[in-house]
Amino acid sequence: MKDRYRPWNESARETGLRKRMAQGLKQKGITDENVLHAFASVPRHLFAFDSALIGRAYDDNAFPIAEGQTISQPFTVAYQTQMLEVKKGEKILEIGTGSGYQAAILDELGARVFTIERVKKLFDLTKSLLPQLGYPTVKCFYGDGFQGLPAFAPFDKILVTAAAPFVPDDLLKQLKTGGILVIPVGEGDTQLMKRFTKISESEIKEEVFDAFRFVPMLPGKKI
Ligand code: SAH
Repeated sequence: MKDRYRPWNESARETGLRKRMAQGLKQKGITDENVLHAFASVPRHLFAFDSALIGRAYDDNAFPIAEGQTISQPFTVAYQTQMLEVKKGEKILEIGTGSGYQAAILDELGARVFTIERVKKLFDLTKSLLPQLGYPTVKCFYGDGFQGLPAFAPFDKILVTAAAPFVPDDLLKQLKTGGILVIPVGEGDTQLMKRFTKISESEIKEEVFDAFRFVPMLPGKKI
């Protein structure tokens, strides 16, 4: 794990709460030690929480952040991260920056992270927050994730953190051969977590995992 500058004031209480959260994730079936280490390292309480909720930042719950969006439940973030099988130096595209917490987890794992948000105010907030929390190399983009980020493609991995009504073709196109797309798909109350592996230019393997509940992936940008 890289030795990084951690510009926030850490209290023993938060270190303890984070360790306990990581242990809880392990009990719920997250087995990848690197993923657990990342969860024990990233200061979740500093990610754009409503100040009234900060005390509960390390509970395994989703919480509202700015602009009516949510920071996903730690278990959901851990589950998706584990499915991505992140290796150091990989180029990863995240759709749905939100609070920036998932992007920080991927950065902590040594990935080169590109992340897109469609809501301008959230984009502005998170783009300025991430460097302050010690994640200056995460590249934030304001745009529509349905289109991916063709100027920076191809990616080793692509992660969608909003409920996709379908699997966008553009995202599959922007994967390297051998690359992985993790995406919750479905328009109802819950979505099925799916993993697509690009075996070759013409062959894609699909795997279906558990059901989750995400906020919807919406088309276009919001000012
Ligand atoms: N990954 C986030 C949680 C995301 S919640 C975190 O760690 O906090 C889903 C986010 O996806 C919301 O911020 C929402 O505005 C954004 N979103 C929805 N549709 C999108 C799209 N088409 N392109 C980019 N972002 C989108």
